[in-house]
Amino acid sequence: MQPSTIHEGGCLCGAIRYRVTSAPTALVVCHCRSCRLSSGAPSLAWAIFRAADFAFTRGTPAMFASSPGVERGFCSRCGTTLTYSGSDRTNVADVTTATLDDPDAFTPTKEIWLQEKIGWEAVDHNAAEAAGLLDHLIVTIARQAAPWRTSPVFSSLPQGKLV
Ligand SMILES: [Zn+2]
Ligand SMILES: [Zn+2]
Repeated sequence: MQPSTIHEGGCLCGAIRYRVTSAPTALVVCHCRSCRLSSGAPSLAWAIFRAADFAFTRGTPAMFASSPGVERGFCSRCGTTLTYSGSDRTNVADVTTATLDDPDAFTPTKEIWLQEKIGWEAVDHNAAEAAGLLDHLIVTIARQAAPWRTSPVFSSLPQGKLV
């Protein structure tokens, strides 16, 4: 896991900026339909931080309630998807990994919601979670040594083994 230090990020147009002041507690890729549609991407990587260590430093995101008790924060000017928050887990702040200034420092360790995955979207099977068990509630995850999405394990597994 990353060292405890300051990381910043923000949206495409720069109207929204944020800062986190600790290492993430989890790093996941979510394949759920809601994440896909909120971002327009085939899957969405999330870095999950303690809520107390996350703050917006410029601008205020617009919010969309994508499910009961769930709000997704985005830039109302450029549309970048930035955050996910749930009323049942107010102690954490989920931030889209790609909006961090240094996303390479936040390699995902778990893939979730594989039951809703697009068929052609590649999965790192070393990070894949059994389908249907977890949403964004992953806590601490042991990082496997395999490189992200390039693992030989992935290419040697039968297609669809975990989906
Ligand atoms: Zn923006
Ligand atoms: Zn999701």
